Amino acid sequence: MKLQKVSLRNNMVSVPKTIRVSIGSAMVLGLLKGKLDAVPTTAYLMTYRKGKCVANCGFCPQARTSHGRADMLSRISWPFFPTESVLDGIEKTVREGKMKRVCLQALNYPEVFQHLACLVDAIHKKTDVPISVSCQPLNSDNTRFLAEAGVERIGIPLDAATEELFDEVKGSSAGGPYSWKKQFELLDEAVKIFGRGRVSTHLIVGLGESEREIVRLVQQCFDMGVLPALFAFTPISGTALERMPQPSIQKYRRIQIARHLIVHGTAKYESMQFDGKEGISDFGVGKRALLQIVRTGEPFLTSGCPDCNRPYYNEKPSGPMYNYPRGLAEKEFSSVIHELGLSGE
Ligand code: SF4
Repeated sequence: MKLQKVSLRNNMVSVPKTIRVSIGSAMVLGLLKGKLDAVPTTAYLMTYRKGKCVANCGFCPQARTSHGRADMLSRISWPFFPTESVLDGIEKTVREGKMKRVCLQALNYPEVFQHLACLVDAIHKKTDVPISVSCQPLNSDNTRFLAEAGVERIGIPLDAATEELFDEVKGSSAGGPYSWKKQFELLDEAVKIFGRGRVSTHLIVGLGESEREIVRLVQQCFDMGVLPALFAFTPISGTALERMPQPSIQKYRRIQIARHLIVHGTAKYESMQFDGKEGISDFGVGKRALLQIVRTGEPFLTSGCPDCNRPYYNEKPSGPMYNYPRGLAEKEFSSVIHELGLSGE
Protein backbone atom coordinates (compact mmCIF):
# COMPACT_ATOMS: atom_id res chain seq x y z
CA MET A 1 0.00 0.00 0.00
CA LYS A 2 1.19 3.51 -0.72
CA LEU A 3 0.96 5.82 2.31
CA GLN A 4 -1.00 8.91 1.40
CA LYS A 5 -1.01 12.50 2.44
CA VAL A 6 -4.20 13.26 4.31
CA SER A 7 -5.81 16.67 4.50
CA LEU A 8 -6.81 17.37 8.10
CA ARG A 9 -8.28 20.75 8.92
CA ASN A 10 -6.46 22.24 5.93
CA ASN A 11 -3.05 20.94 7.00
CA MET A 12 -1.33 18.50 4.70
CA VAL A 13 0.32 15.95 6.95
CA SER A 14 1.70 12.54 6.11
CA VAL A 15 1.06 9.25 7.83
CA PRO A 16 4.19 8.70 9.97
CA LYS A 17 6.45 6.24 8.13
CA THR A 18 7.46 4.47 11.33
CA ILE A 19 5.53 3.30 14.35
CA ARG A 20 6.34 1.43 17.55
CA VAL A 21 4.57 -1.86 18.27
CA SER A 22 4.57 -3.71 21.62
CA ILE A 23 6.72 -6.80 21.30
CA GLY A 24 3.80 -9.22 21.87
CA SER A 25 1.61 -7.41 19.32
CA ALA A 26 4.50 -7.46 16.83
CA MET A 27 4.60 -11.26 17.07
CA VAL A 28 0.86 -11.60 16.47
CA LEU A 29 1.06 -9.14 13.56
CA GLY A 30 3.76 -11.32 11.97
CA LEU A 31 6.48 -8.66 12.32
CA LEU A 32 8.64 -10.68 14.73
CA LYS A 33 9.01 -14.35 15.49
CA GLY A 34 8.77 -15.74 19.01
CA LYS A 35 6.68 -17.72 21.44
CA LEU A 36 4.04 -15.98 23.52
CA ASP A 37 2.90 -17.08 26.93
CA ALA A 38 -0.27 -14.99 26.63
CA VAL A 39 -1.45 -13.66 23.28
CA PRO A 40 -2.62 -10.02 23.04
CA THR A 41 -6.10 -9.59 21.53
CA THR A 42 -5.53 -5.85 20.96
CA ALA A 43 -2.73 -4.50 18.76
CA TYR A 44 -0.79 -2.05 20.93
CA LEU A 45 0.94 0.67 18.91
CA MET A 46 2.84 3.75 20.07
CA THR A 47 3.72 6.90 18.13
CA TYR A 48 7.38 7.04 17.14
CA ARG A 49 9.62 10.08 17.32
CA LYS A 50 13.35 10.54 17.61
CA GLY A 51 13.24 12.61 20.81
CA LYS A 52 11.40 11.87 24.02
CA CYS A 53 7.98 13.06 25.19
CA VAL A 54 7.72 16.76 26.08
CA ALA A 55 6.11 15.75 29.41
CA ASN A 56 8.01 14.40 32.38
CA CYS A 57 5.98 11.74 34.21
CA GLY A 58 8.14 10.22 36.96
CA PHE A 59 7.27 6.59 36.20
CA CYS A 60 7.75 6.77 32.43
CA PRO A 61 10.87 5.88 30.42
CA GLN A 62 9.57 8.15 27.62
CA ALA A 63 9.67 11.20 29.95
CA ARG A 64 11.76 14.22 28.89
CA THR A 65 14.45 13.81 31.58
CA SER A 66 14.31 10.03 31.90
CA HIS A 67 17.47 8.07 31.09
CA GLY A 68 15.37 4.99 30.41
CA ARG A 69 15.39 3.16 27.10
CA ALA A 70 13.37 4.99 24.45
CA ASP A 71 11.84 1.73 23.25
CA MET A 72 10.24 1.00 26.64
CA LEU A 73 6.84 1.76 28.11
CA SER A 74 6.18 0.14 31.48
CA ARG A 75 7.91 -3.31 31.37
CA ILE A 76 7.33 -3.77 27.67
CA SER A 77 9.71 -3.09 24.80
CA TRP A 78 8.27 -1.41 21.70
CA PRO A 79 10.49 -1.91 18.65
CA PHE A 80 9.65 0.24 15.63
CA PHE A 81 8.57 -0.93 12.19
CA PRO A 82 7.56 0.59 8.87
CA THR A 83 3.93 1.73 9.24
CA GLU A 84 2.97 0.00 5.98
CA SER A 85 3.98 -3.44 7.35
CA VAL A 86 2.10 -2.79 10.59
CA LEU A 87 -1.06 -1.79 8.70
CA ASP A 88 -0.83 -4.94 6.57
CA GLY A 89 -0.43 -7.05 9.72
CA ILE A 90 -3.47 -5.39 11.31
CA GLU A 91 -5.62 -6.00 8.24
CA LYS A 92 -4.67 -9.68 8.14
CA THR A 93 -5.01 -10.44 11.85
CA VAL A 94 -8.33 -8.59 12.16
CA ARG A 95 -9.63 -10.60 9.17
CA GLU A 96 -8.48 -13.81 10.88
CA GLY A 97 -10.17 -12.81 14.15
CA LYS A 98 -6.85 -12.64 16.06
CA MET A 99 -6.90 -8.89 16.75
CA LYS A 100 -10.12 -7.28 17.90
CA ARG A 101 -9.02 -3.72 18.62
CA VAL A 102 -6.14 -1.33 17.99
CA CYS A 103 -4.82 0.79 20.87
CA LEU A 104 -2.75 3.79 19.82
CA GLN A 105 -0.64 5.22 22.64
CA ALA A 106 0.73 8.67 22.09
CA LEU A 107 3.67 10.61 23.41
CA ASN A 108 3.10 14.32 23.88
CA TYR A 109 4.71 16.40 21.08
CA PRO A 110 3.46 19.20 18.83
CA GLU A 111 2.23 17.22 15.79
CA VAL A 112 0.85 14.27 17.70
CA PHE A 113 -2.87 14.85 17.00
CA GLN A 114 -2.34 15.08 13.28
CA HIS A 115 -0.20 11.94 13.37
CA LEU A 116 -2.91 10.12 15.32
CA ALA A 117 -5.67 11.21 12.93
CA CYS A 118 -3.58 10.13 9.91
CA LEU A 119 -2.90 6.74 11.50
CA VAL A 120 -6.59 6.21 12.33
CA ASP A 121 -7.50 7.10 8.76
CA ALA A 122 -4.85 4.74 7.34
CA ILE A 123 -6.00 1.85 9.58
CA HIS A 124 -9.64 2.41 8.63
CA LYS A 125 -8.76 2.34 4.94
CA LYS A 126 -7.70 -1.28 5.59
CA THR A 127 -10.21 -2.49 8.17
CA ASP A 128 -13.05 -1.17 10.34
CA VAL A 129 -11.45 -2.46 13.58
CA PRO A 130 -12.37 -0.29 16.61
CA ILE A 131 -9.55 2.05 17.63
CA SER A 132 -8.78 3.37 21.11
CA VAL A 133 -6.37 6.24 21.60
CA SER A 134 -4.55 6.94 24.84
CA CYS A 135 -3.24 10.48 24.68
CA GLN A 136 -3.02 13.87 26.30
CA PRO A 137 -5.37 16.38 24.66
CA LEU A 138 -4.58 20.03 25.35
CA ASN A 139 -8.18 21.14 24.84
CA SER A 140 -11.58 19.88 23.70
CA ASP A 141 -10.72 20.69 20.06
CA ASN A 142 -8.03 17.99 20.15
CA THR A 143 -10.57 15.52 21.56
CA ARG A 144 -13.24 16.41 18.97
CA PHE A 145 -10.63 16.16 16.22
CA LEU A 146 -9.92 12.53 17.21
CA ALA A 147 -13.62 11.67 17.40
CA GLU A 148 -14.13 13.11 13.92
CA ALA A 149 -11.13 11.13 12.67
CA GLY A 150 -12.94 7.89 13.65
CA VAL A 151 -11.48 7.04 17.07
CA GLU A 152 -13.97 4.86 18.99
CA ARG A 153 -12.71 5.39 22.55
CA ILE A 154 -10.29 7.78 24.20
CA GLY A 155 -8.14 7.36 27.32
CA ILE A 156 -6.88 10.41 29.20
CA PRO A 157 -4.65 9.32 32.08
CA LEU A 158 -4.96 10.60 35.63
CA ASP A 159 -2.39 8.04 36.81
CA ALA A 160 -2.22 9.39 40.40
CA ALA A 161 -5.04 9.11 42.94
CA THR A 162 -4.81 12.56 44.54
CA GLU A 163 -4.06 16.10 43.44
CA GLU A 164 -0.83 16.19 45.52
CA LEU A 165 0.50 12.93 44.07
CA PHE A 166 -0.52 14.01 40.57
CA ASP A 167 1.46 17.22 40.95
CA GLU A 168 4.50 15.37 42.32
CA VAL A 169 4.50 12.67 39.68
CA LYS A 170 3.40 14.44 36.48
CA GLY A 171 2.44 18.03 37.26
CA SER A 172 4.49 21.16 37.78
CA SER A 173 6.58 19.71 40.66
CA ALA A 174 7.75 17.00 38.24
CA GLY A 175 8.52 19.57 35.56
CA GLY A 176 5.48 18.38 33.58
CA PRO A 177 2.74 20.39 31.83
CA TYR A 178 -0.31 18.71 33.41
CA SER A 179 -2.70 19.86 36.10
CA TRP A 180 -5.23 17.82 38.06
CA LYS A 181 -8.04 20.31 37.53
CA LYS A 182 -7.46 20.53 33.78
CA GLN A 183 -7.32 16.75 33.50
CA PHE A 184 -10.84 16.52 34.98
CA GLU A 185 -12.10 19.22 32.62
CA LEU A 186 -10.67 17.26 29.67
CA LEU A 187 -12.24 14.03 30.90
CA ASP A 188 -15.59 15.76 31.34
CA GLU A 189 -15.45 17.25 27.83
CA ALA A 190 -14.39 13.88 26.40
CA VAL A 191 -17.49 12.23 27.92
CA LYS A 192 -19.64 14.86 26.19
CA ILE A 193 -17.92 14.14 22.86
CA PHE A 194 -17.46 10.33 23.00
CA GLY A 195 -20.30 9.41 25.36
CA ARG A 196 -20.43 7.80 28.83
CA GLY A 197 -18.31 4.65 29.12
CA ARG A 198 -16.28 5.46 25.98
CA VAL A 199 -13.74 7.49 27.90
CA SER A 200 -11.18 5.76 30.10
CA THR A 201 -8.50 6.84 32.50
CA HIS A 202 -5.48 4.98 33.83
CA LEU A 203 -4.94 4.81 37.58
CA ILE A 204 -1.61 3.55 38.90
CA VAL A 205 -1.73 1.77 42.25
CA GLY A 206 1.41 2.25 44.34
CA LEU A 207 2.34 5.91 43.92
CA GLY A 208 1.84 6.57 47.63
CA GLU A 209 -1.96 6.73 47.80
CA SER A 210 -4.17 5.04 50.40
CA GLU A 211 -6.78 2.47 49.42
CA ARG A 212 -9.49 4.93 50.44
CA GLU A 213 -8.09 7.63 48.14
CA ILE A 214 -7.93 5.46 45.05
CA VAL A 215 -11.32 3.82 45.65
CA ARG A 216 -12.89 7.26 46.10
CA LEU A 217 -11.37 8.31 42.78
CA VAL A 218 -12.65 5.14 41.05
CA GLN A 219 -16.16 6.09 42.21
CA GLN A 220 -15.71 9.71 41.10
CA CYS A 221 -14.59 8.59 37.62
CA PHE A 222 -17.43 6.09 37.30
CA ASP A 223 -19.99 8.72 38.35
CA MET A 224 -18.77 11.08 35.63
CA GLY A 225 -18.99 8.37 32.94
CA VAL A 226 -15.26 7.60 32.83
CA LEU A 227 -14.06 3.98 32.99
CA PRO A 228 -11.02 3.63 35.28
CA ALA A 229 -8.38 1.01 34.34
CA LEU A 230 -5.94 -0.19 36.99
CA PHE A 231 -2.20 -0.54 36.64
CA ALA A 232 0.37 -1.58 39.24
CA PHE A 233 3.26 0.85 39.59
CA THR A 234 6.31 -0.69 37.92
CA PRO A 235 9.77 0.81 38.60
CA ILE A 236 11.72 1.24 35.36
CA SER A 237 15.44 1.85 35.31
CA GLY A 238 16.39 5.43 34.36
CA THR A 239 13.09 6.99 35.50
CA ALA A 240 12.66 9.38 38.44
CA LEU A 241 10.78 6.69 40.38
CA GLU A 242 13.15 3.82 39.56
CA ARG A 243 13.74 3.06 43.25
CA MET A 244 10.12 2.95 44.36
CA PRO A 245 8.75 -0.56 45.12
CA GLN A 246 5.71 -2.13 43.45
CA PRO A 247 2.51 -2.18 45.53
CA SER A 248 1.73 -5.24 47.64
CA ILE A 249 -0.40 -7.78 45.83
CA GLN A 250 -2.85 -7.76 48.77
CA LYS A 251 -3.51 -4.01 48.36
CA TYR A 252 -3.84 -4.42 44.59
CA ARG A 253 -6.36 -7.27 44.93
CA ARG A 254 -8.53 -5.24 47.33
CA ILE A 255 -8.55 -2.30 44.92
CA GLN A 256 -9.38 -4.61 41.99
CA ILE A 257 -12.41 -5.93 43.91
CA ALA A 258 -13.55 -2.42 44.87
CA ARG A 259 -13.21 -1.25 41.25
CA HIS A 260 -15.15 -4.26 39.98
CA LEU A 261 -17.98 -3.66 42.47
CA ILE A 262 -18.16 0.05 41.59
CA VAL A 263 -18.07 -0.24 37.78
CA HIS A 264 -20.71 -2.99 37.88
CA GLY A 265 -22.94 -0.94 40.18
CA THR A 266 -22.81 -3.68 42.88
CA ALA A 267 -21.46 -1.39 45.63
CA LYS A 268 -20.40 2.21 46.05
CA TYR A 269 -17.42 3.84 47.71
CA GLU A 270 -19.87 5.33 50.21
CA SER A 271 -21.00 1.85 51.33
CA MET A 272 -17.43 0.55 51.85
CA GLN A 273 -15.55 0.80 55.12
CA PHE A 274 -11.92 1.61 55.78
CA ASP A 275 -9.65 0.89 58.73
CA GLY A 276 -7.37 3.23 60.70
CA LYS A 277 -4.73 3.01 57.95
CA GLU A 278 -7.31 3.88 55.26
CA GLY A 279 -7.27 0.29 53.97
CA ILE A 280 -10.53 -1.36 52.84
CA SER A 281 -12.06 -3.31 55.73
CA ASP A 282 -15.52 -3.94 54.26
CA PHE A 283 -16.51 -3.92 50.59
CA GLY A 284 -20.16 -3.12 51.29
CA VAL A 285 -21.41 -6.52 50.11
CA GLY A 286 -21.91 -9.65 52.21
CA LYS A 287 -19.11 -12.23 52.47
CA ARG A 288 -21.06 -14.76 50.41
CA ALA A 289 -21.60 -12.30 47.56
CA LEU A 290 -17.94 -11.29 47.80
CA LEU A 291 -16.75 -14.89 47.44
CA GLN A 292 -19.06 -15.44 44.47
CA ILE A 293 -17.58 -12.39 42.74
CA VAL A 294 -14.04 -13.50 43.56
CA ARG A 295 -14.76 -16.94 42.08
CA THR A 296 -15.74 -15.42 38.73
CA GLY A 297 -12.11 -14.25 38.46
CA GLU A 298 -13.30 -11.15 36.61
CA PRO A 299 -12.01 -8.51 39.05
CA PHE A 300 -8.45 -9.75 38.48
CA LEU A 301 -8.39 -9.56 34.69
CA THR A 302 -6.76 -6.65 32.88
CA SER A 303 -9.15 -3.68 33.00
CA GLY A 304 -9.66 -1.18 30.19
CA CYS A 305 -11.35 -1.13 26.80
CA PRO A 306 -13.22 -4.22 25.51
CA ASP A 307 -10.76 -6.92 24.30
CA CYS A 308 -7.77 -5.27 25.99
CA ASN A 309 -5.69 -7.89 27.83
CA ARG A 310 -2.24 -6.18 27.83
CA PRO A 311 -0.18 -9.28 28.79
CA TYR A 312 2.74 -8.71 31.16
CA TYR A 313 2.52 -4.95 31.09
CA ASN A 314 3.13 -4.70 34.85
CA GLU A 315 4.12 -8.29 35.58
CA LYS A 316 7.29 -10.30 35.35
CA PRO A 317 6.35 -13.75 33.97
CA SER A 318 7.48 -15.06 37.41
CA GLY A 319 4.82 -12.87 39.12
CA PRO A 320 3.19 -11.37 41.04
CA MET A 321 0.37 -11.40 38.51
CA TYR A 322 -1.35 -8.08 39.15
CA ASN A 323 -3.58 -8.23 36.04
CA TYR A 324 -4.37 -11.58 34.45
CA PRO A 325 -4.48 -11.46 30.64
CA ARG A 326 -6.84 -14.50 30.49
CA GLY A 327 -9.16 -16.46 32.78
CA LEU A 328 -7.59 -17.77 36.01
CA ALA A 329 -6.50 -21.41 36.42
CA GLU A 330 -7.69 -23.29 39.54
CA LYS A 331 -4.32 -22.80 41.28
CA GLU A 332 -4.47 -19.06 40.58
CA PHE A 333 -7.93 -18.83 42.20
CA SER A 334 -6.48 -20.35 45.36
CA SER A 335 -3.67 -17.76 45.37
CA VAL A 336 -6.10 -14.88 44.90
CA ILE A 337 -8.34 -16.14 47.72
CA HIS A 338 -5.27 -16.42 49.94
CA GLU A 339 -4.05 -12.92 48.96
CA LEU A 340 -7.45 -11.52 49.92
CA GLY A 341 -7.35 -13.32 53.29
CA LEU A 342 -10.54 -15.25 52.44
CA SER A 343 -9.03 -18.74 52.76
CA GLY A 344 -10.97 -19.61 55.90
CA GLU A 345 -14.36 -18.43 54.54
S1 SF4 B 1 2.71 11.95 28.78
FE1 SF4 B 1 2.76 9.71 28.52
S2 SF4 B 1 4.57 9.26 27.26
FE2 SF4 B 1 4.77 11.38 28.04
S3 SF4 B 1 6.01 11.19 29.92
FE3 SF4 B 1 3.84 11.13 30.54
S4 SF4 B 1 3.30 8.92 30.57
FE4 SF4 B 1 5.24 9.13 29.39
